[in-house]
Amino acid sequence: MQKRLSRALSAVIQWFDADYAPNGAAAMRAEPDRVDWVRCIPFIILHLGCLGVLWTGASAFAVGTAIFLYFARMVAVTGIYHRYFSHKTYSTSRPMQFLLAVWGGTTVQRGPLWWAYHHRHHHQHSDDPEDAHSPHVHGFLWSHIGWITSRRNFPTDYTKVRDLDRYPELVFLNRFDAIVPAAFAVAIFALGSFLAAHAPGLHTNGWQLLVWGFFISTTALFHGTSCINSMAHLMGGRRYKTDDDSRNSFILAIITLGEGWHNNHHRYMSATRNGFFWWELDITYYALKTLSWTGLIWGLKEVPASVLAEGERADHEESIAAALKSQHVHPEYSSLKRIVPAAAAIAVATVNAAHPIHPRREAPSVVQTDARSHSQGPDSGSRA
Ligand SMILES: [Zn+2]
Ligand SMILES: [Zn+2]
Repeated sequence: MQKRLSRALSAVIQWFDADYAPNGAAAMRAEPDRVDWVRCIPFIILHLGCLGVLWTGASAFAVGTAIFLYFARMVAVTGIYHRYFSHKTYSTSRPMQFLLAVWGGTTVQRGPLWWAYHHRHHHQHSDDPEDAHSPHVHGFLWSHIGWITSRRNFPTDYTKVRDLDRYPELVFLNRFDAIVPAAFAVAIFALGSFLAAHAPGLHTNGWQLLVWGFFISTTALFHGTSCINSMAHLMGGRRYKTDDDSRNSFILAIITLGEGWHNNHHRYMSATRNGFFWWELDITYYALKTLSWTGLIWGLKEVPASVLAEGERADHEESIAAALKSQHVHPEYSSLKRIVPAAAAIAVATVNAAHPIHPRREAPSVVQTDARSHSQGPDSGSRA
């Protein structure tokens, strides 16, 4: 009982200080998977907050804000937490790195070091029992949402992010990971209150904007991001034969602004782009490319030509395999291929055969003489 109480007390402290671990972070990470309900209360509140819409109602401005903040912060998850902190696919200055980390913090997906540590771990152990969120090992629900409620996944293993923990300002944001989300929520509430007073035509207010811009938008953002953990190893095609079961999915690429090209990414994770070919929509990459023109970030990493060539070869082989398969699946398709040329040959023969008959029955004329002379070619040919 006392053990349970002290664990609950620790969980409350961890809401404010994510690095608090009385028995050490390593011991916590060694525990079996177990949902820590007390630690998850803020996460549950995030979901319940969406129900606030029953009281606040909606306005076009509030809904638009929610949609805008979903996409603006999806770029933060994918372009900052994933492609910068986890994989370092581009470079930036130290002040800009801090600003990027703050923007990433508004996504309410914990600190940049925690995110990067878990993601690097996923790449190391993709779809093996060590993987914290593999749908093949743990099932869909656990890989989508369960894993982040488990005690063993709460602490950051700083030894796995040595390139990032050299920066005290990043460690601070990571340790006190509730500060940025709380400030962000307050700012949205303040904006709504300000607009209620100074722009009543927008029909919004502090509580309404808080529900839409923070609770609904952030909850949708969480589930959109989680689709990569749960669905991107289940849904879509596989261009590259990677050791895991990562997939490429256009639908997931839309929801996550480019992360859906997950099989590409597992094949070559150091590139800034996940959509390797021009038709693979990757909004995050376009956003980062645009940002690089300002000089605030630089050194975006390209996909090596050898990896692109490997992909093109795989696509080609895939299309041949698909054509062969379709012949087996639809026998009428292959018989059609025989019928169509045969029908065409009969049609041509009929047309040619018709010409010599008509002119002989009609009175000769210039045009018909011409027609007959035309028909003599193949006709005399057949007699020869
Ligand atoms: Zn993956
Ligand atoms: Zn990755």
